[in-house]
Amino acid sequence: MTTTQLSSTAREAHPAPGRRLVPVSAIAVLGAALGLAACRPAQTLADPAPGKEATSGKAKTMNTVLSKSGYDITPLPKDEVARLAAKLDPEAYRITQKAGTEPAFCGNLLDNKKDGVYTCVVCGLPLFSSEHKFNSGTGWPSFFREVDPAHVTRKVDRAFGMERVEIDCARCGAHLGHVFEDGPKPTGERHCLNSASLKFLEKGAPVPPESQPVKVETAYFAAGCFWGVEHWFKRGPGVLDAVSGYMQGHTDNPTYKDVCSDTTGHAESVKVTYDANRITYRRLVEAFFAMHDPTQLNRQGPDVGDQYRSGIWTVDEGQKKVAEEVLGELKGRKVYGEKAIVTIVEPAKTFWPAEEYHQEYLAKNGASCHVKNPW
Ligand code: FE
Repeated sequence: MTTTQLSSTAREAHPAPGRRLVPVSAIAVLGAALGLAACRPAQTLADPAPGKEATSGKAKTMNTVLSKSGYDITPLPKDEVARLAAKLDPEAYRITQKAGTEPAFCGNLLDNKKDGVYTCVVCGLPLFSSEHKFNSGTGWPSFFREVDPAHVTRKVDRAFGMERVEIDCARCGAHLGHVFEDGPKPTGERHCLNSASLKFLEKGAPVPPESQPVKVETAYFAAGCFWGVEHWFKRGPGVLDAVSGYMQGHTDNPTYKDVCSDTTGHAESVKVTYDANRITYRRLVEAFFAMHDPTQLNRQGPDVGDQYRSGIWTVDEGQKKVAEEVLGELKGRKVYGEKAIVTIVEPAKTFWPAEEYHQEYLAKNGASCHVKNPW
C-alpha cells in the first residue's frame, strides 16, 4: 500500500477555517533450492480514462496492484485473510495457514486430468493451469509454471535442516508448497503443490468474482469535504482506489486555495476506480447517498460554499441512468421527508487531482469529517 506523507505545508493549510474535526479513530522430495526469485513483474493500476483526466502530477496515490494478466494481487489485510481462512476445512487451514504438507499420493487433485484453472483455496486467485500440469511421480500435483509469475511469491524455507524455496499465494499469503529445479522443459521447474491449497475450476464452469480479472471502471462523486468521502469510498468492497480532486469548474489546474476562493466553480470531488465484477455502479451511488446529507445546498455540515455541493459526475449514459434511477427512488420513498434532494447529476468534466497532502488525509491524521461509513 502506498502511504503518502503529510507535506510541510499541510499543517499551515489544515484544518481549513470552519472545518471541525472529530478524533476517531514438506514436502518430501528434495530438490535443489532455487534461491530468491527475481523481481516479480507487476504493474500499478492504469487509469482507464473513461473521461478526461488532468495530469497535473499533484496526486500520485494508487494503492491497487494488478498483475500483467489483469488480476488484483494487492496483498489482503490480515483480518480479511483471517475471515477467509475461518471458512476452510481443518486440513486446508493447517496447510495454508500453518505451512503444513499433506501426505503424498493422498491429495484429491493429484490425478485430476480435466482442463481448467487451479485457484487459491483461500482467496480464489488463479495460480496454476491444467496446461502446465505434469506427472512428476512425487505424489503431489506438479506444474512447470504459474499462470502468472506475479500470482505466486517465493521465499527461502530452511525448515527440517534443508534449504528449499517455499511458494505462497501473492494475494493472501496462503502456503501452497515448494518449487524445485528438477522440472520438465521449458522452465525446468517443478511447482510441488498441496491439493488442499487449491480449488479447481473446470473449463466452462462459472468463475466466481474473486477468480476473475479486474474490470476497471471509474465514477466521480462530490459530497462535501473530500477527505471523508475519499476515505470511505476507498474502503468499499471492490473499490480499487479513491483519489481526492477538483471537478466541474472553469479553470485549469486549480489549487486548494483557488477552489476555496469560490471563484473557480470547482467542487471537491472524489475519483473512484472500481472493479465492476465485484461492485456495481448502483452500489457506489447508494453509498454516496448514505455517506452524506444530499438535502444541504452548497454545504455539508460545517463546510459552507459551492465547492461542497452534492453532485454525481457521470462518464456515460449508463451511469446517468443509474444515478437518476437511485435519485428517483429516494425521492419517491421520501427518505428525507419533505426536504428536497439537491444533488446534481451532470456529465463529468476534467478531474484535477488535489494536492498530495489531501490524499488519504484521514488515515494519516486520525480524524473524521461529516461523512458516515456507508458499508
Ligand atoms: Fe490466496
